[in-house]
Amino acid sequence: MAKPAFSLCVYCGSRPGVDPTFLALAEQVGRWIGQHQGQLVYGGGRSGLMGCVAQATLAAGGRVVGVIPKALVEREFANHDCTELHVVDNMHERKRLMAERADAFLALPGGIGTFEEFFEVWTWRQLGYHDKPIGLLNASGYYDGLLTFLKQSVAQEFMNPWQMELIREGSDLERLLPALVQAAGFAPATRLDAI
Ligand code: AMP
Repeated sequence: MAKPAFSLCVYCGSRPGVDPTFLALAEQVGRWIGQHQGQLVYGGGRSGLMGCVAQATLAAGGRVVGVIPKALVEREFANHDCTELHVVDNMHERKRLMAERADAFLALPGGIGTFEEFFEVWTWRQLGYHDKPIGLLNASGYYDGLLTFLKQSVAQEFMNPWQMELIREGSDLERLLPALVQAAGFAPATRLDAI
């Protein structure tokens, strides 16, 4: 496959959650990446929403870069279908490599690992370590409580409004995905038309 049109790092649950719409959304994200000749960068596992995004990207013809610490190869069911599977020494190396390989980041519903990864790239961005766009998919109001809390933090002046503006949040994938990729300097629709 030719060089990917863009590289999107997706953070999401290693579990599927109880609401089947989250799995459907994960599949939609993967399909969109593949259909737009993109590359998924993710945690390299087969389980939950993570595995679902990866398989959908591959099925739609996209590239998948999986990055997994060696200690989690069995626990998270390392995905040997990945176009590139990197087994790294530890979690820090995983997150560094994922961030390096991405043009933009998107968090879907997930648990503590997803939260940690999302907050980490956000804090790196506000410190100026990178300038890559960051999205938060607030599907079915999953992140409503978090967003309310973050706004409270701004109101209490522990956060600045500009810090909030560093993340793009929305519930509509059809808007959020192209917005992120375009903010990263890529125009997948134009590339598709040119093929
Ligand atoms: P979760 O959202 O908890 O299902 O985890 C999603 C992914 O985040 C999994 O692949 C975890 O290995 C990964 N992850 C990254 N950083 C951490 C961390 N500090 N603690 C737990 N999981 C993490």
